[in-house]
Amino acid sequence: MTTEVLEKTVATMNKPEAKSVPITVAYGDGIGPEIMKATLSVLKKAGASLEIEEIEIGEKVYQKGHLSGIETYAWDSLRKTRVFLKAPITTPQGGGFKSLNVTIRKMLGLYANVRPCISYHPFVSTKHPKMDVTIIRENEEDLYAGIEHQQTDEVFQCLKLISKPGTEKIVWYAFEYAKAYNRKKVTCFTKDNIMKMTDGIFHKIFDEVGAEYPEIAKEHMIVDIGAARLADTPEIFDVIVMPNLYGDILSDVAAQITGSVGLAGSANIGDSFAMFEAIHGSAPLIAGKGIANPSGLLLGAVQMLVHIGQNDIAEKIQNAWLKTLEDGIHTEDIFKEGISKSKVGTNEFTDAVIERLGQMPRMFRPADYSMSVGDFNIKVTPTKPAIKELIGVDVFLHHTDRNPESLAQLIKDLDVSGLTLTMITNRGTKVWPDGFPETFCTDHWRCRFKNDMKNGVSYQAVIDLLQRIQHRKLNVIKTENLYLMDGQQVFTAGQGQ
Ligand code: NAD
Repeated sequence: MTTEVLEKTVATMNKPEAKSVPITVAYGDGIGPEIMKATLSVLKKAGASLEIEEIEIGEKVYQKGHLSGIETYAWDSLRKTRVFLKAPITTPQGGGFKSLNVTIRKMLGLYANVRPCISYHPFVSTKHPKMDVTIIRENEEDLYAGIEHQQTDEVFQCLKLISKPGTEKIVWYAFEYAKAYNRKKVTCFTKDNIMKMTDGIFHKIFDEVGAEYPEIAKEHMIVDIGAARLADTPEIFDVIVMPNLYGDILSDVAAQITGSVGLAGSANIGDSFAMFEAIHGSAPLIAGKGIANPSGLLLGAVQMLVHIGQNDIAEKIQNAWLKTLEDGIHTEDIFKEGISKSKVGTNEFTDAVIERLGQMPRMFRPADYSMSVGDFNIKVTPTKPAIKELIGVDVFLHHTDRNPESLAQLIKDLDVSGLTLTMITNRGTKVWPDGFPETFCTDHWRCRFKNDMKNGVSYQAVIDLLQRIQHRKLNVIKTENLYLMDGQQVFTAGQGQ
């Protein structure tokens, strides 16, 4: 889109006396345009003071040949407004396309994804009448680094990256959020019994930061039992913080069990940018049918209004929306005979919310954004470089003979500057020495060469070792250096080692 076109699409929806806040809006794909139109009409009627710049992202942009799904003018708009209201977009599957959602979150440093999941009993059917859980999901790291490779005929790899500063930011955010919104408990989900280093650091930082908040209860759960309890007894949770992938999956579960995935909004918060959306996707199967529930995006927009300081309008909209639910005016996804009064489409639901602007809910607690949340105190500990000593190398090989013993025979006499073969694993499980014949082996091997005296080795020794492996016609896929950092071993043992 050119600048002229962009200028033409700038629309103002402002109260004459209020200062308009520039925001960027994308209508998205699938049900996106329907629910965005609905959301903007509620914002307008409620008196939100916004200066809207429209951008086009997603499917149409991918089809024009932009693999990222977004063009330069759109980044320029985002950089200018720093506030983005985004409808869901479709991510083409495969074919080199990257998820635009992930790209935007990462490029703009939106590290915190905040997803309140609340049940609206008795007006919306749910098995969990007392649920009020906010999921705070790390938004930039983990497996969403998107670094993937096919390494052999049989094995594919995705790197899970967790950083200390990234974890500190999300954990501080979760506790600051809990404090600001008067929440009583923060729970952390990880899988650090298995991923001792990546999820391990997340858990450790949770414990350290949590100690700074004596007034807030803290607990940690392994993500599998945590997920089971969330699905079964969500009322025992308050705020939950977790790494990216677990948070992505479990916030959908949490939203769905409140009654519908269509009921939850989401805020993506960074140091200087923020993006607001529904938690659900573009729902292509119901696109164009006029039946989508606009509530998720509308509640995302309510979070946006609070973010830009239009708290009174945020309350007005949320209260009208709560009253609409109480009046039994429900879209198909939450309609239930005996509870709901009328089944409506997107437009009728929107009109019903607009009609109720200025009304308060009778039973639900009214929205209250009068408290001043203030700035969150997010601390990142400066990184103190450790003393790093190279003591070995894991060499990954593509080798089709499935017999570990014969592979060991090919490389166990290699001894370069004290680097000797100490272990071979297949998919992480030790298969040499003393492997089990029952262990299934693929064509992907990790061969650990270490100086057994734990003396340091030189990078040149690693290069010499690789050269000698190459001379034996073995196919090296990659290497991982083995370090001591400040004297501590910073790599894991093989399973069964
Ligand atoms: P989805 O969330 O679009 O749909 C899941 C189910 O929920 C479907 O049955 C759908 O009909 C229903 N649903 C979702 N939103 C609804 C609403 N507002 N009202 C009524 N019913 C609703 O998930 P999906 O089908 O896995 O993904 C579809 C596309 O959306 C994919 O291309 C995916 O990549 C993309 N996606 C985008 C975002 C985003 O833009 N933030 C998030 C998730 C998925």
